[in-house]
Amino acid sequence: MTCDELLIALNEVVDSETALEIYKEFAAHLSNCNPCQVVLDNIRQTITLFQAGQEYHMPPSFQEKYQQIIESKWDEKFHKSKNEKNS
Ligand SMILES: [Zn+2]
Repeated sequence: MTCDELLIALNEVVDSETALEIYKEFAAHLSNCNPCQVVLDNIRQTITLFQAGQEYHMPPSFQEKYQQIIESKWDEKFHKSKNEKNS
């Protein structure tokens, strides 16, 4: 994948209505859920460290859990809407 291809794909994700819905759901959930706020803070710290040129590794247990959450959300959103269109 080239840089251009990545940026095009990223724009599609960011521009899509589904991404906006997911973002809204995340924001709504986060406003009421302390554990997830902690997760978000960890991600923010990771980004800050990354920008500062320091390397930071997430704990494997967190990485695994986070990936599962993202994947299940993704499946829920995209596969559900795809099935609705096809049926
Ligand atoms: Zn939560």
